[in-house]
Amino acid sequence: MSPTEKLGNFTAHDAPDYCDVLQCMRCGFCLPTCPTFALTGRERSSPRGRVALARAVAEQKLEFTEAVKEEAFFCLDCRACTTACPSGVRAGEVMEICRSQAHQFFPLKHVGKSFREFVLQKMLPSPDLLEHSMLPARLYQKLGIQWLLRHSHLLKLGPEWVDKAEGMMPELHPPLRPQLADSIPAVGEQRGRVGFFLGCIMTLMYAEVSRQTVRVLTQQGFEVLTPKAQKCCGAPHLTEGDRDTARRIAQHNLDLFMALDVDAIVTDCAGCGAALKEYEELLEETGSHDKLAAFRGKVKDVSEFLAEQGLRTEGLKPVNKIVTYHEPCHLCHAQGVSKQPRDLIKAIPGIDYRELNEASWCCGSAATFSLKYTDESQQILDRKLQNVQSTGAELLVTANPGCHLQLAWGLKRAGLSQKVVHITELLGMAID
Ligand code: SF4
Ligand code: SF4
Repeated sequence: MSPTEKLGNFTAHDAPDYCDVLQCMRCGFCLPTCPTFALTGRERSSPRGRVALARAVAEQKLEFTEAVKEEAFFCLDCRACTTACPSGVRAGEVMEICRSQAHQFFPLKHVGKSFREFVLQKMLPSPDLLEHSMLPARLYQKLGIQWLLRHSHLLKLGPEWVDKAEGMMPELHPPLRPQLADSIPAVGEQRGRVGFFLGCIMTLMYAEVSRQTVRVLTQQGFEVLTPKAQKCCGAPHLTEGDRDTARRIAQHNLDLFMALDVDAIVTDCAGCGAALKEYEELLEETGSHDKLAAFRGKVKDVSEFLAEQGLRTEGLKPVNKIVTYHEPCHLCHAQGVSKQPRDLIKAIPGIDYRELNEASWCCGSAATFSLKYTDESQQILDRKLQNVQSTGAELLVTANPGCHLQLAWGLKRAGLSQKVVHITELLGMAID
């Protein structure tokens, strides 16, 4: 549906597609896959219930109420229901669009509004501003203020989300984007050239992980181009219901990367990969169908790309570790990339791979869900950690910074010994 087409009681700007909500035949196949339904047992917090709410608003049987707003934000957007649905209903995406509606029906006021606009419209679209904003956090760690605060337990006196956000912060390094050369040559015989999409959280919080991604790609025979003008993928804007800013930055990234002469556009962030692959729908109204389809065809998660190209295993040294794998929702459900990471892990010599029970069940991170719904997020995480523990693994591999933050925090808090690593860090261990 056009971003300005009126649908029932939705506003005209960015309403869900009526066909999407009509597709639900109420079979209930999605119910056992939905973490918020498992937590609450409430129909309205299930995929079927959420789609029914959207349909009732579309058919003018219901106003866009607070309850619709709550369900839009309580949905993890994990897309597990999409994988399970025989009708192709995308409840997560419908709820994402309902968040945009929620901000139109219930706009924030005063400071909340200004803060949201500053973060989404000024800070996230500006890599320089974003990188500068992390300097106080790096000083906070470097000067020992973090150590003092953590040991004083002062953080326990404030809201729970502040304590959790602080506890999740990994050791910060200078952002990677300004450090990477525009072009890094392949090692040995060149197999191709890729554009590297460096997500905001990766460059700011997991700079050393993405450095390994670039190292693995070059060692595997690919020249890596990193255009410095790239911006946030737009996923936070979609999550927070700011689809207009998401469209602006999507158009920027589309033009920037399609001007490169590359075989693929590779990312090591599952959330970014999912957002980039969905530019085709987000920018549908621009009419650039061929360009969008070509872009969609080039975007690859790093594990998807390496599996497609064939991992060069000659010279890999053994990594003698027991390893399990947590599937990021935005890799397995949103992108359908599930087998490839496992194949790569198993191709590394020395690995003792243990399959994780419920590997594709959300970890409870889900963008800001883990901070907005701390109790529910903890319950979802506990289920995941129990499964991790029963594998007996030493390393828990994943491929998304949100999962990485949540799992590492949860394991540490639970006193468990597993270390979380990104799949390219694991591959990096096998490369001399
Ligand atoms: S969303 Fe899909 S799986 Fe769930 S009830 Fe509707 S048709 Fe069935
Ligand atoms: S996206 Fe996830 S949380 Fe949302 S309705 Fe579907 S399964 Fe439930």
